[in-house]
Amino acid sequence: MIIRHNENYKWDNIPMLAYKEDTNCFKNITRQVLLDGAPALPCQLRYFEIAPGGYSTLEQHEHVHFVVIFRGGGKALVGKEVYDVQEKDVIEIPSFAWHQFQATSDSPLGFLCLVNIERDRPRLPTEEDLNLLRQDSNIAAFIKS
Ligand code: MN
Repeated sequence: MIIRHNENYKWDNIPMLAYKEDTNCFKNITRQVLLDGAPALPCQLRYFEIAPGGYSTLEQHEHVHFVVIFRGGGKALVGKEVYDVQEKDVIEIPSFAWHQFQATSDSPLGFLCLVNIERDRPRLPTEEDLNLLRQDSNIAAFIKS
C-alpha cells in the first residue's frame, strides 16, 4: 500500500481532522491519520501541523510518542527541557513527560507522531503542576495552557 503525498502536506484520501475533539487547550493545529494500525503493528502514524502562533496541548500520559519534525521548525517542551526543533529532528517523549509543541516562527511546524493504538488518555496540568513547571524560568516563559 502507498499513500501518495498530494500537495502541501496533504495526502490522498486522508481526511484533515481537528487536532482534538475534547479540549480547547490548543491553538491552530490539524491532524491527519496516515496509518491506523495493522495486526502485527498496532500503532498509528499521524501528521500534525501547527500554524504560526499555534501550539499543541500541554499534557502528560503513560504512552510514549516518537516524533519526527517534518516541516519547518519551532520549539518543544519535553520533560524539563525546552528545545529548538527543526526538520528531520527525531524526538522521544517518554512516559509521563510533560510536552508541548509550538510554532514559534512565521512558518508552520509539522511533525509525524507515532503512538500505540491502545493508549491512556492525556492528563492536563493542574494549577499545582503548572506552579511546579513554572519554577523553571525557561519553562515558565514557554508554556501556554
Ligand atoms: Mn501527547
